[in-house]
Amino acid sequence: MTTMPLPLGSVRPTRYVFDRAPMLVYWEMTRACPLACRHCRAEAVAQRSDRELTTAEGERLFDQIAAFGRPYPHVVLTGGDPLRRDDLVTLVRAATARGVGTSVSPSATDDLTPELLAELKASAVQSMSLSLDGSTAALHDGFRGVPGTFASTQRAARAIRAAGIPLQVNTLVTDETADDLPAIHGLLRGLDIMRWSLFFLIGVGRGAVLGEVSPVRSERLFRWLLDLEGTSPFPIKTTEAMHYRRVAIARMERAGMDRDAIEKTPVGRGFGVRDGNGIVFVAHDGAIHPSGFLPIPCGDVRSASLVDVYRAHPLFVALRDARSFAGKCGRCPYAAICGGSRARAFARTGDALASDPLCPYVPPADAVAWESRPS
Ligand code: SF4
Repeated sequence: MTTMPLPLGSVRPTRYVFDRAPMLVYWEMTRACPLACRHCRAEAVAQRSDRELTTAEGERLFDQIAAFGRPYPHVVLTGGDPLRRDDLVTLVRAATARGVGTSVSPSATDDLTPELLAELKASAVQSMSLSLDGSTAALHDGFRGVPGTFASTQRAARAIRAAGIPLQVNTLVTDETADDLPAIHGLLRGLDIMRWSLFFLIGVGRGAVLGEVSPVRSERLFRWLLDLEGTSPFPIKTTEAMHYRRVAIARMERAGMDRDAIEKTPVGRGFGVRDGNGIVFVAHDGAIHPSGFLPIPCGDVRSASLVDVYRAHPLFVALRDARSFAGKCGRCPYAAICGGSRARAFARTGDALASDPLCPYVPPADAVAWESRPS
């Protein structure tokens, strides 16, 4: 890792920093999945591993999450396919009993039966998410490399909504899917979803075989998304494309909004969230990573405290301090708000504190931190 100090006073380190607790804990319950899509982050396999956390260890993980204190982080139960575990409902109930909210990210299979969804609803799961990467069967199934998943995703979406569970749809943004995004948005208008999350590809796992969009194209996509937000029936968010916040701020400032108003928008409420800052990932074998796309083990929930690792591991501490970033991210006026994708920096350079190569912005030499400017 390399570090570069910021000019004094350019960033207020306590603002947009999640030092005490993350907002989201991702638990990869298993890597087993019947689909094994060609770009899977988890490099999913057919069979469960005997290294997975047991039911009792999962319950202890929820105790650790509650130990962060209130407000408790929200837990995203992911995989692989969490439905490969027959204790999924038991574990959702265990989290609910502790006051910890959960979401489930299943694979779109016929295992999402009305009976199971009713049990999840009764266990107080707060939402579920599905992946949709194409607007037609040919595009979606061809991209994922698994025939039939376009139809099963739409069946699953309707079943989740029929069970009264809010639904988020996730779409991978690559140079292959970018042209299809308007058509996907059109399709989602008919699915009664609570949010569309656009994940900008990072070449890890099987995703290493796909192509990222270019920096210039990412900015064009952001401007299109901001235009779309005005008429979209559901909010839109980006994942691993934190510089969307910079483009959104510029748009809102041109519209005359002040800093307080900007911070209250859906984009503003995500200020600062990035790998290791507001996010922590627990792998199927208990290893603690800053995020699912930044696969650097920093401890293990079987032998260490999740709270201690999140708060005090040197990598987590550095990831939360925008002053430790190298290159232009370290001297950017939006560093505390955005900070760039630490996962992409790591995937591309081997240095989690390097600049995000997807962002084309060049900070001016005399830049003052955005949050320090007069409102
Ligand atoms: S230079 Fe880095 S911190 Fe600044 S907007 Fe781009 S990605 Fe974000």
